[in-house]
Amino acid sequence: ITPSERRPIRELPDELISQIAAGEVVERPASVVRELLDNALDAGASQITVRLASGGVRLISVEDDGLGIPREELTVALRRHATSKIASLNDLETVGTMGFRGEALAAINAIAELSILSRFTGSDTAFALDGRTGELRPVARSTGTTVEVRELFFATPARRKFLKTDATELAHCIEAVRRHALARPEVGFSVWHDGKLVEQWRAATTREQRLADALSDEFVAQSVAVYREGGPVRVVGRAGIPDAARSRGDQQFFYVNGRFVRDKVLSHAVRSAYEDVLHGQRQPIYALYLEIDPARVDVNVHPTKIEVRFRDGREVHQAVRHAIEDALAAPRAGDAVAPAG
Ligand code: ADP
Ligand code: MG
Repeated sequence: ITPSERRPIRELPDELISQIAAGEVVERPASVVRELLDNALDAGASQITVRLASGGVRLISVEDDGLGIPREELTVALRRHATSKIASLNDLETVGTMGFRGEALAAINAIAELSILSRFTGSDTAFALDGRTGELRPVARSTGTTVEVRELFFATPARRKFLKTDATELAHCIEAVRRHALARPEVGFSVWHDGKLVEQWRAATTREQRLADALSDEFVAQSVAVYREGGPVRVVGRAGIPDAARSRGDQQFFYVNGRFVRDKVLSHAVRSAYEDVLHGQRQPIYALYLEIDPARVDVNVHPTKIEVRFRDGREVHQAVRHAIEDALAAPRAGDAVAPAG
């Protein structure tokens, strides 16, 4: 580069800043689904309906029956770094909600056509906000929120080119819903694609029931209950028996305080627990839920929050490892016991 080619330092326009930031949060339709589900759950939804068209590229709509958004806050919700979930650094240290960065809606609005329809609890009117024009108009709906996202990546053709077939994108979207469903059995979920109901998991009373519905009856039948409480860490869930291991690691779900994560400490702990009973590349099945004091885990490591950092990784590693080892060693309820005599 020569001095004459160099451009002066300038602050980027707002829209471009949002589009750049969106690249970190939204990789594909499933990323949008994940963010909108986080929001619905944070709003206390008990029933969530996801509607998709063309693998989510044409349309992603997530409807909830949560708290809703007051009319005067609808426009603010689309601004960058605007959130109702934290107000201080101290809140961030102890954050219990899925969201807190105030980035998702702004990011999605920068790269798609977004509209929000919401009726706040106690209000008798619902309003729809058009993300492009900023226009607000009254609409009819019950308490809760629907976020509609159309024509994802219409303005960023480079991203659009990376999308796979509708069927593949749909599968990723469904997997995103499944991950949330496994975290929150008490919430009902349904997924529609191109007008057809493709998945439905009714509000369940137990985690086992949800695992059976959203994964399979075999998952529950071929796994043992995990329960370990000690110190600041609690590990519950189900771990597959060695015979249930598969060649693919597609039935491995780890949650930290209700958030689906991928973490080296956790996967290493699982591998060590199975080390004596599994051979080769066999992958155990599991759905494990770690509850830990939020102050002992940093969830603000990655924009999508799929990575976390533990203050004391060793403590967590041991807790997970022992939880699984104990569960695998315990006699299984329902196993045949030789009758006396
Ligand atoms: P964050 O979730 O990190 O706060 P978002 O951009 O995802 O950021 O959402 C911005 C704000 O909009 C949220 O803090 C919340 O107050 C509001 N909001 C978004 N989706 C919903 C929803 N489904 N129900 C109620 N409020 C919502
Ligand atoms: Mg959010």
